[in-house]
Amino acid sequence: MFLTTATIRAFRKYEALISATDNYIDCQKNAVLLTDSSDYLTEQVRLYTINAQPQYMEAYFTEVNTTRRREQALEQLKEYKVSEQTYHFLEIALEHSNELMEQEIYAMKLIATAQGENISTLPQAVQYTILSEADQALSPEEMTQKAQQIVFGADYQSAKASIQDNTDYFLTSIIDDTKQEQQTSALSLKNMMTRQQILISILFVENVFTFLMIIWLIIRPLKIYVNNIKEEKMMEITGSYEFQYLALTYNDIYEVNAANEVLLRHQAEHDPLTGIMNRGAFEQIRQILKVKSNPLALLIIDVDKFKLINDGHGHEVGDAILKKVAKLLVETFRSTDYPARIGGDEFAVIIPDMTPDMKSILSNKINFLNETLQHPKDGLPQISLSVGAAFSENGFTDDLYNKADTALYYVKEHGRCGYSIYGEQEKSAEKPNTP
Ligand code: GH3
Ligand code: MG
Repeated sequence: MFLTTATIRAFRKYEALISATDNYIDCQKNAVLLTDSSDYLTEQVRLYTINAQPQYMEAYFTEVNTTRRREQALEQLKEYKVSEQTYHFLEIALEHSNELMEQEIYAMKLIATAQGENISTLPQAVQYTILSEADQALSPEEMTQKAQQIVFGADYQSAKASIQDNTDYFLTSIIDDTKQEQQTSALSLKNMMTRQQILISILFVENVFTFLMIIWLIIRPLKIYVNNIKEEKMMEITGSYEFQYLALTYNDIYEVNAANEVLLRHQAEHDPLTGIMNRGAFEQIRQILKVKSNPLALLIIDVDKFKLINDGHGHEVGDAILKKVAKLLVETFRSTDYPARIGGDEFAVIIPDMTPDMKSILSNKINFLNETLQHPKDGLPQISLSVGAAFSENGFTDDLYNKADTALYYVKEHGRCGYSIYGEQEKSAEKPNTP
């Protein structure tokens, strides 16, 4: 906006500079027009006094009354920027020219009279010019001589010179005026250009500043935020106020989502009744351990005659029993083991890094479980567990589950309340403390 205004102003100053020159050229043309016209009149009157041809008188008066170049020049000059003093020089020139005209017409009257012309057919100015009595008394030759003396004489010449001088003064004055006008315009233009340069410099600095601010306040925080989102991190509070507000809002949503995600994941992985891992999570762990080559043991545990509990004590008591079993499993096994509820009254425990030579640890734990459940201190009915176990030296192999299940079946078939290790049924199917 400022730049546009400054440019328009500078352009106007430039136009003023050009118009000062144009003004001078036009004034010069008009000054030349005035002297040309005056010289033309002189030429015509002189020719008339020499050979008395009427066409010269006609040409003279056509210039005076019709063409009127002198008056036109002055008239046009009024439209230009000319100081009063300068214009005055040209007025004086015209005045002198008009004074000469009186003498010129007088000379023409002398010639016309000497030639015996019919005065009434001549232009009015000639008709109305009265010859002096002395001149009327002159002979035609003397009249001709006098007329020629008027238009060629020293007085006439000096009046002509005066016209030329005043015209020259006018032109000199115009040159001075023009120079002054040009200097003023050039100075203004220079000032304007300097101001424009300063303005452009300010705009440049402003643009650089704006660019840097955009980088610092918008582009930089955007990059950081994109990285935060990619890395699933909370957003850094940085950049402009709007970005900080965005980051705060995002972080609020992020926290709520993160909490929901934890809740959903927990719900997806855990059994709602007992709070331990569900069948889905068990399967996932199984897949993970499948590709590992560490030794492990798998226990499949089923509550004995659980239907009877439900039927005899009600479903709620049955639920309480299931919760109790789950809690007991968590407490009995290590935090690095994976107890899970994989069916109605069926549980599993994956025990990493467990080898057959450590089976006594297992038997102790299973015996402890049955011991505890058979001597309840919480008012719940006593129950027992049947456990099938299987070992693998090479991660969770495909057949491990079936092996443990087969062992469990063996226990169920052989009186329940105890455990069996797959492959050792005939020698290790223990039957401790049958209730
Ligand atoms: P077995 O000794 O042969 O295992 O006999 P069982 O009666 O326990 O037979 P089974 O294991 O087949 O029965 C499981 C029962 O568990 C059947 C079902 O009604 C009950 N059950 C399954 N889910 C739940 C539950 O969430 N809560 C309760 N209270 N009972 C359940
Ligand atoms: Mg059962």
